[in-house]
Amino acid sequence: MFDHIAQPVSYQHIELPSLVHLDIKRLDLVHPQISGNKFFKLKYNLLVAKQQGLSSILTFGGAYSNHIAATAYAAHLFGLRSIGIIRGEELADKPLNPTLAKAQSLGMHLHFVSRNEYRLREDANYLQQLHHQFPETFIIPEGGTNELAVQGCQEIISQSDLQNYDVICCAVGTGGTISGLIESSGLHQKVLGFSALKGNFLQQEIRQWTKKQNWSVTHAYCCGGYAKTSPELLAFIESFEEQHAVPLEPIYTGKMMFGLFDLIKNNYFSEGTRILAIHSGGLQADIRNKSHQ
Ligand SMILES: *Cc1c(COP(=O)(O)O)cnc(C)c1O
Repeated sequence: MFDHIAQPVSYQHIELPSLVHLDIKRLDLVHPQISGNKFFKLKYNLLVAKQQGLSSILTFGGAYSNHIAATAYAAHLFGLRSIGIIRGEELADKPLNPTLAKAQSLGMHLHFVSRNEYRLREDANYLQQLHHQFPETFIIPEGGTNELAVQGCQEIISQSDLQNYDVICCAVGTGGTISGLIESSGLHQKVLGFSALKGNFLQQEIRQWTKKQNWSVTHAYCCGGYAKTSPELLAFIESFEEQHAVPLEPIYTGKMMFGLFDLIKNNYFSEGTRILAIHSGGLQADIRNKSHQ
């Protein structure tokens, strides 16, 4: 039910003044609305919700969440109702931003909650309560990461990727995407994650999903935290877009590419290393020129 809506994924070679080889796998082009890694993360979740005969999907996110945008569209496409638990009760009285307006127009019921209530999003009792409030609902965690998401993300790596690359890079939020990449990677390959967030809890999250050890995550390029930016990051994104005609955004893919270029410049990779950078999409809510919440 999902695969037929996917566009064939293309690779883009990036010319570098360096002796490593870099290609970008353009998951941002896999679907115009269910972009990037979210397509793979949602796939089996929606399939299982349908198989279980449930009528709606419920999930969690901030006001600019790519996951909320993708879920609203995917649920709409597959005839499921969707409920978004959105962080920030004050938003209920304000005009909707483009992400939320689009989600609502696709039929998503937006349920704004306080930051305190939002913190309960993994609490078993709270989830039970949501099940009562919204019956016949399949609940997907914030960011979409669960076992079914990791299963879907294993399909990002193709047979030829196993042969053609030594290193696979991706942006990391909740760790679901990188876990799928690690699971499907070859043991001769290294999976390198660039965290969009501050803190070391991600290593543990990832170990929950994979026992393999051919990976690492760096926080060195998170620019101080989630959705934080720096003038260097923004300048890098602008010049990258100009030179290579690949759009990036500053929350995930911009930080990954910024970090990757820095590592390449500092000779982190040996000569001849073949690198595949996963473009995970996320272009629906570019926070640049907006004051972020
Ligand atoms: C959600 C998102 C990520 C993070 O994926 P995780 O599976 O949560 O680590 C990375 N890049 C983009 C563009 C995203 O929208």
